[in-house]
Amino acid sequence: MTRRLVVLGGAGFLGSHLCDHLLARGDEVVCVDDFSTGRRDNLAHLASHPGCSLVEADVSEGIPVDGAVDGVFHLASPASPPDYLARPLQTLAAGSEGTRRGLELAAACGARFLLASTSEVYGDPAVHPQVESYWGNVNPVGPRSVYDEAKRYAEALTMAYARTLGTDVAVARIFNTYGPRLRPDDGRVVSNFVVQALRGDDLTIYGDGSQTRSLCYVADEVAGLVALFDSDLTGPVNIGNPDEYTITELARTIIEVTGSPSGVVHRPLPVDDPTRRRPDITLARNALGWEPTTPLAEGLALTVASLGAAAGRGGNARNGAAS
Ligand code: NAD
Ligand code: UDP
Repeated sequence: MTRRLVVLGGAGFLGSHLCDHLLARGDEVVCVDDFSTGRRDNLAHLASHPGCSLVEADVSEGIPVDGAVDGVFHLASPASPPDYLARPLQTLAAGSEGTRRGLELAAACGARFLLASTSEVYGDPAVHPQVESYWGNVNPVGPRSVYDEAKRYAEALTMAYARTLGTDVAVARIFNTYGPRLRPDDGRVVSNFVVQALRGDDLTIYGDGSQTRSLCYVADEVAGLVALFDSDLTGPVNIGNPDEYTITELARTIIEVTGSPSGVVHRPLPVDDPTRRRPDITLARNALGWEPTTPLAEGLALTVASLGAAAGRGGNARNGAAS
């Protein structure tokens, strides 16, 4: 039987790939987005798909979706640091009211609800790699708190719905993900470095470049989210790639992959920038049979092709530290 799934934030980077994946396997998809950080272009290829519909709405104000719903994926939130730092109140609203409205919809329809949470709930982690049982180290009043605390609240609300109303829920803690459809001006590290390398500009390393991130290719990430949704696991479950790189190593790799003459330039480190990040994915491996399979060089080559095409259409990278 075809399932009708609502993807909140479906016009974004991750959400649009998720819509593609669900439609390809025969699900019907209702995508809800306010296009604040997402793009209509990301869904243009689905415009005439009979299984896909699009609703323009701010999920923190309401989710105008009628009829039967079998699942709700909540990805609607700014995700890039420059995006959420530019929209602090909207980010808090998407995590709080947006999550509540998504949960209400799922509860009313007897649908499963999947929250796209984040590795940012671990803040600047004192435990490395990060296991789901670690409670995190978050500055509750710093500039990043609008995102970190919104997601921590969203997790608390999701668990409260499960405990109080018996809503069927899953919490995915997503780690840094990259791939085609990242906006050239998104401001995250991979899109910035690739656009800068393609233009022959110096790559902007924030701080000394010794901080680490673990990068997951988008197709792997989406497969993990769907495996979690299809399971009966509540989580939270880390969904990410445990291969960890310093930002300096990432810059070198991107210069190599693009064959660019670019060098690097150092810029101030954003406030509360986590010093290291790497998921422990034992739970996802054992309970979901999932693990990422795309090597960094392969994923970067696909990303370079996509951002190269976008740059040809006039895209630009953000320069300088976000905060
Ligand atoms: P994105 O900015 O590309 O996508 C977010 C989408 O949500 C956009 O289409 C935007 O227009 C929409 N949106 C934002 N606020 C909304 C609102 N109030 N109402 C309706 N739509 C709204 O970001 P992304 O990288 O695709 O991230 C998607 C989700 O995954 C986010 O919830 C993010 O927190 C989470 N996540 C992403 C990553 C990553 O590395 N990409 C890491 C951790 C968590
Ligand atoms: N970063 C950088 N140069 C850039 C953009 C980001 O050095 O042009 C660094 C940033 O300070 C952080 C890491 O790269 O340490 C990842 O940043 P991103 O914004 O992609 O995501 P975060 O993991 O911080 O949410």
